[in-house]
Amino acid sequence: MSNNFKKTTILDIEFINTTNANFLAQIKSDSLARKNRFIVTANPEIVLFARQHLDYKKILSQADYVTPDGIGIIKGGAILGTPLPERITGFDTLTSLLEWANSHHKSIYLVGAAEPVIQKVVTKMDTDYPNINLVGFHNGYFKDDHEIVAKIKATQPDFVFVATGFPNQEAFIQRNRHVSDSIWMGVGGSFDVLAGNVNRAPQFWQDHHVEWLYRLFQEPTRFIRMLAIPHYLFLIYKEKFSRRKKKN
Ligand code: UDP
Repeated sequence: MSNNFKKTTILDIEFINTTNANFLAQIKSDSLARKNRFIVTANPEIVLFARQHLDYKKILSQADYVTPDGIGIIKGGAILGTPLPERITGFDTLTSLLEWANSHHKSIYLVGAAEPVIQKVVTKMDTDYPNINLVGFHNGYFKDDHEIVAKIKATQPDFVFVATGFPNQEAFIQRNRHVSDSIWMGVGGSFDVLAGNVNRAPQFWQDHHVEWLYRLFQEPTRFIRMLAIPHYLFLIYKEKFSRRKKKN
């Protein structure tokens, strides 16, 4: 990772160990310097997936910043005795960067989500972020990257937000980031939230570390995906005890 943040390794994935404020300040300065940057916001599901898919793990190792999204990563850090200060979520980072992009007249390209969702997000850009220059957008259901990548190359946006879910969004970014010195970030289901199709958990749920439960109520089909959490915690404890053994 090309940055000076302290790192914390959780099950072989290197996370930046910093606050939202410091991270955002870094990204804004990267953007002003027109650095080519790749941000991954990773949760336990992503960490497990990377363990089982080495090609994906390699992509994560090429990202510039992997941030701790999801309370499971924060808990993991604490259990391993290498605490991380706070969650740095995809959605919060996206909205903070959109606000900054709006006040600094920056340009963005959006790709991801179903057509009606991206259409709603585009309308929202006009109303909520009128000073952002939206250079182009595309839904997340495409066969090849060509048209999208050509547009990004031609317009050189300050930010490229990719909302096609992991692992596709990270693979897309790694494959194409060379065409434009932009800040590239995978934002998962954030466009659905921006469009108002899925609600973000209210602050109370977030503060009490049960945002995941709120999400489960909204989308019960996520249950299967959430089975990853106990598996993840098992591996964290295993890691903790193997580290302790090595120490003794
Ligand atoms: N999606 C997409 N193209 C695909 C598959 C999914 O654009 O081929 C979109 C989907 O419509 C949704 C997002 O990717 O908006 C994935 O959301 P999810 O909540 O699964 O992502 P997470 O935040 O958990 O990574």
